[in-house]
Amino acid sequence: MELKKPVLIGLGILGAIGIGYVIYWDYMRQNNREFRKKLKRDRKKAEKLRQAAAEVAKDRITAFIKKAVDEVSKESFPTDVAAKEKYFMDQVSNGETLLAEGKEHHLDAALCFYKALKVYPNPVELIMIYQKTVPEAVVNVIYEMMSFEVKKNKAEYFENFPPKDMNVRVGDISESSPMGDIRRGLFATKDFWPGDVIFDEQPIASALDPDLETGDYCSYCLKELSGDPISDDTDLFEAVYCSKTCHEKAMSEYATLLFTNRDKTDTESKESQLVHLVKSGNVKYPLMIARFLAKMVHEETQKVITGEEEEYSTWDHIERLRFLNVPTNDKEINEIKLLRELFAAKVPGMEEFISDERYLMLKGKLMYNSFGISTTREIRKERENSKEMVRTSESSVIGAGFYRVASYMVHSCDPNIMIKFPNRNNVISIVATKPIKAGEELRTSYINVGHRNLESRRNELDSKWRIRCTCSKCLSEESTTEQSSTEKN
Ligand SMILES: [Zn+2]
Ligand SMILES: [Zn+2]
Repeated sequence: MELKKPVLIGLGILGAIGIGYVIYWDYMRQNNREFRKKLKRDRKKAEKLRQAAAEVAKDRITAFIKKAVDEVSKESFPTDVAAKEKYFMDQVSNGETLLAEGKEHHLDAALCFYKALKVYPNPVELIMIYQKTVPEAVVNVIYEMMSFEVKKNKAEYFENFPPKDMNVRVGDISESSPMGDIRRGLFATKDFWPGDVIFDEQPIASALDPDLETGDYCSYCLKELSGDPISDDTDLFEAVYCSKTCHEKAMSEYATLLFTNRDKTDTESKESQLVHLVKSGNVKYPLMIARFLAKMVHEETQKVITGEEEEYSTWDHIERLRFLNVPTNDKEINEIKLLRELFAAKVPGMEEFISDERYLMLKGKLMYNSFGISTTREIRKERENSKEMVRTSESSVIGAGFYRVASYMVHSCDPNIMIKFPNRNNVISIVATKPIKAGEELRTSYINVGHRNLESRRNELDSKWRIRCTCSKCLSEESTTEQSSTEKN
């Protein structure tokens, strides 16, 4: 078939249009792809710029927070009530003025509000007021300042504690620990001669062996009683005190809170159950934990009442101390349950605070660190010591004390200090028994060394504290035993 000319032209036009279409679409597609790519690139660029800006802003905020908290920590704050009030009002009003001046003054405003917190009697309450009245971003900066302050204080703890007048510092010991952790020890900061008192220290918590409550020793300071002791008919423990001061201290620090129910006939009360648990087992650590927790509550309440805060809380002090891993057995489960129930009715939140883990850790710390206390002038009657472990080189003790600083002393079978209770109460005194140079480590004996051989000492140290002693005495005895055994062969 022969196609006519117009048809051919027509087909040609159609074809051209078709090709044109294809070219057009391809062009468009290409262009679109390029366009999309460009869009993506731009978006990424913008995102990067935004991120960089955010990072710069974050770095600027962090730097500001660090500098501000450092400076505030060096500032001395007013102490009397009127001056505190004035300082507080000034800071808050400065903060409000800065807020009103716009976003670029937000950091300075946050600093004013943070400073106001420093003198306000109830910081938690003030934070809640800030949450309602101050922009969220500013409240977040205040939070970051507070958390930076906590971190800073923790890092600086051993620079500030123990206080310089105690003549010791806490430092790392180079010898490796079988547990693979850093071991800390106590080092003298000046020279001492035998007989010199290096430091005295009050305990965080102490208690008599429970079979001795009711009798010859002060329930609070553990002093042997003479003259007219103070007793209290309503006391479930039937505890006695050496003085009015000890009685009052015991009441305000723990006894009032622990023994709200003082009905002796109510044997089902948690209070009676605690007394029974402690006395029937002659175990003081559950009681010391109860006293410790009550004291923490007392500390917090005092903070609110007086507006004065110690640099470190009792909890800060015990946090770094070593502890034994106490397995959870029926005895411990029972103790935890009882303490939770005892506190639940008295202090909101305490039931949750006394977790299994926290209780066992506290108990492990008491077991590892407590020193046996002996205040008796002479051992007057034969009695069996409580079975609970304590550090002591005496054959008989009447109770135990848990100390912030003395706890750091590591064991040696050949110690350079001795433990004394010169006031015949729970104040421990660390006395040099050898010449000690500044920088030298202080070592105490956790056990009664006497004439015991290496094996017997090592068994006790390992079974109780899980330590293997490598003091000079142990090492020299080890080499002589090795020598004599090779000679035998
Ligand atoms: Zn006393
Ligand atoms: Zn040794």
